[in-house]
Amino acid sequence: MRVSKSPWLLHYDGSSCNGCDIEVLASTAPRFDVERFGIINTGNPKHADILLCTGGVNSQNKDVIRQIYDQMPDPKVVLACGICACDGGIFKDCYNILGGTDKVIPVDVYVPGCAVRPEALIDGVVKALEILDEKERAFKKEGKRSLTSSEYKALLEEKAGESETKEDTDASES
Ligand code: SF4
Repeated sequence: MRVSKSPWLLHYDGSSCNGCDIEVLASTAPRFDVERFGIINTGNPKHADILLCTGGVNSQNKDVIRQIYDQMPDPKVVLACGICACDGGIFKDCYNILGGTDKVIPVDVYVPGCAVRPEALIDGVVKALEILDEKERAFKKEGKRSLTSSEYKALLEEKAGESETKEDTDASES
């Protein structure tokens, strides 16, 4: 695979048990060493191309995740790493857990696992690089940008409204 840039990655730990975070660290350490592909970990959303989320979304961090995402420049890609980030995982039914990362921002790549394995994580990052390249081309040609978190929220609400209407129709027909 040929990629046009060395992406910078921002890791955000939502409400994980830290198991996945240890694996993220392992992937940057000498054994797996994602930096050899030119992938640099950054703490600044304005420098990041890839947002890597671990842990579920809860009522306290939902706005933080939205802010980080909105501060990242286009094109950008979001990776949900570990089953908690994919759909809430083992914390799904906790009183304060809303679910996975896609409850608040659009997710491009889902990497399941509990904890996520560094090999799977690296595969996910490679997939993210392909998507980043596609988005870069669309951004340059057509100015196509990612949804903002509020546009995404409106889309989710619209979809929820549609499925409620469909359920009502199904119920009245049966
Ligand atoms: S997926 Fe497993 S290891 Fe990762 S944060 Fe959730 S419980 Fe912890």
